[in-house]
Amino acid sequence: MLGVEITGTAQHEAWLRRELPPVEQLRTDLWSIPVPIPHGGLRYVSVYVLALEGGGLGLVDTGWQSNQAWEALTGGLTSIGADVTDVRGVLVTHMHFDHLGLAERVRQVSGAWVAMHPADAAIIGSPMLRDAPAAVAAEVEFLVSLGAPPDEAAADVGTPEQFARFSGMARPDRLLEDGDVADLPGWRMRARHTPGHTPGHLCFAEERTGLFFAGDHVLPRISPNISTTHQGDDDPLRDFLTSLTAVADTEPAEVLPAHEWRFRGLGERTEQLAAHHEHRLAELLSAVRSHPDSSAWQLAAYLTWSRPWEQYERRMRIFAVTETDAHLRLLATRGLVSQSGGAAPTYRLTAR
Ligand SMILES: [Zn+2]
Repeated sequence: MLGVEITGTAQHEAWLRRELPPVEQLRTDLWSIPVPIPHGGLRYVSVYVLALEGGGLGLVDTGWQSNQAWEALTGGLTSIGADVTDVRGVLVTHMHFDHLGLAERVRQVSGAWVAMHPADAAIIGSPMLRDAPAAVAAEVEFLVSLGAPPDEAAADVGTPEQFARFSGMARPDRLLEDGDVADLPGWRMRARHTPGHTPGHLCFAEERTGLFFAGDHVLPRISPNISTTHQGDDDPLRDFLTSLTAVADTEPAEVLPAHEWRFRGLGERTEQLAAHHEHRLAELLSAVRSHPDSSAWQLAAYLTWSRPWEQYERRMRIFAVTETDAHLRLLATRGLVSQSGGAAPTYRLTAR
């Protein structure tokens, strides 16, 4: 088995220096533009720019919705002798703000179409996303259903103002299902539906070059967040592991992820990610054994995290608890734990 080989060496070196990587030309008709993310550890999204046969550009993802990100995207396009008004179509790997955020602004100035999977389009189109107080209430209610005390859930979720930015996210003009080839002349971008990180996550396997646009599904260093949400899939971790297997069969010429750096060794990396989750599942199973009849909220505190659990709050705690819930649901699917039922279910080992 081949290892995971870093091919985006300039990206990796910039990462180690804690700098933004350069705009890179990857082929005669393909570039990557790093678009900064204002907070969090990811630092940037790599927007891929495809020159189309007959003129114009296609984009894979767009970046966080901010003026700084807009300047990075449009400045990057200028640096390769292009302009944002040249964009004809935008492929969105998934509905998260760092990928979809700028799509509306790109569409407004260029008239480009925006395409995504129907499952993410349904979330983006849900009335709740346009109604910040309702979205906040739903998320608080969801955390309470995982066992959170209502006051702590409300404190972690925050105020409706923090949700307002999501209401400007682009709804798609086009939908792409698994197996569809995107309408980007000169390219054979075949959509691969890879639910897990979001219900409608798409990767794109480019059949002319053998390149694989991985979105957040397979990243070289970190494991993408797999969490339950109030409007997501019932068992996202099961879906994610199935989606890993689904893309592991091909060994692309190069993997072009949405964060971090390009690499080779997709099969090996999918195995590492699956092993990471199996390890986490085993850890959680032993926590359920030691602390029977605990909720997801309680069990999260018994797992090992990158910092002491007492320091977790707000978004970080929500990620941790909903990730724990995703693992619990897969343990339940596998018949290893059973749920008490009720408004805030607790878990115990299944009697054998
Ligand atoms: Zn992302």
